[in-house]
Amino acid sequence: MRTGLYIHIPFCLSKCPYCDFYSVRYSRTRAEGYAAAVIRNIRHYGEKYDTVYFGGGTPILLYEHIGDILRAADIAENSETTVEANPCAVTPEIAARLAEAGVNRVSLGVQSMNAGELSFLGRRHTPAQVRAAFASLKAAGIENISADMMIGLPGQSETDISGTALTLAELGARHISAYILKIEENTPFARQDIALPDDDRTADLYLYTARELERLGFAQYEISNFALTGYECRHNLKYWRCGEYLGIGAAAHSYYKGKRFRVPPDIGAFTAAGAQDTVVTDEDPGGWEEFAMLKLRLTEGITFDEAARFGKTEELRKNAAGLPRNLVSITERGVNLTLEGFPVSNAVIGRIIY
Ligand code: SF4
Repeated sequence: MRTGLYIHIPFCLSKCPYCDFYSVRYSRTRAEGYAAAVIRNIRHYGEKYDTVYFGGGTPILLYEHIGDILRAADIAENSETTVEANPCAVTPEIAARLAEAGVNRVSLGVQSMNAGELSFLGRRHTPAQVRAAFASLKAAGIENISADMMIGLPGQSETDISGTALTLAELGARHISAYILKIEENTPFARQDIALPDDDRTADLYLYTARELERLGFAQYEISNFALTGYECRHNLKYWRCGEYLGIGAAAHSYYKGKRFRVPPDIGAFTAAGAQDTVVTDEDPGGWEEFAMLKLRLTEGITFDEAARFGKTEELRKNAAGLPRNLVSITERGVNLTLEGFPVSNAVIGRIIY
């Protein structure tokens, strides 16, 4: 298997009040210098890839540069090439540009098809713009469209969730990521008095969302990710299966040549440097704990053969057997969390690993 290429584009038009990702306000000049630095780094590593993922930030803001960036990389035929996009940024012209550049998957930051929820989340787009974005992408030949949706909003009902899920399915989404809203420190939401649903209610909304998406044909394959058959995100699967990927850009993370490292969150330094600065992190990518923690996020779980590589087969079997059957499933093949185990995954995975 080739390496995955992650390109971090830390520019946004404005800051959403719940977001704690590293990003700065977009400017055309800064973006040009940044794209040139991305290309320099791609040449510097000279690696071969079979998945590419432009994440952010708002990567679609650099749509004019995506073709040049992809041409600089050695990308296998039939690769998966994803760009994250805000729905209001996707015009028919930009969608055509992306398709021409070789992009074959777009991940839309929809969050909701409910105007009130979008306004609460401070998003710049409307439900009508989401519909237009789907139409533009499909007209350009990009059928592999993923959409993010947000659950656990104050006062959100099951009806609100099913409305968004059903509309996304009808619009032709092939993949849906459902994330639970969290109030992160140092965000505008953290300074407001926002009453999120309590843990039990959030877990109920999560279970409802998962069942509703399954009913619509989206099979769950990871805690937050659901896909029609064959549309699981190949790039993100590399993360959870401990495959290698190289991250390029300010604040990008990598697991490359057996090491985990990150690039400091400094656009100026990244743009000025000939090759990006990297800081090796202290995680142990070859270790059982990290492997098990990532694999148990997937519905496929861990096989006993995989555990045997770490000498952990018996420990895995014994620890899992000590947990309630509604949270963990033990088969001949291995161990996986059940749907009801996912909302309490931190506690359950901790009990399995330690
Ligand atoms: S949620 Fe996305 S668009 Fe909003 S500020 Fe964060 S990275 Fe930018």
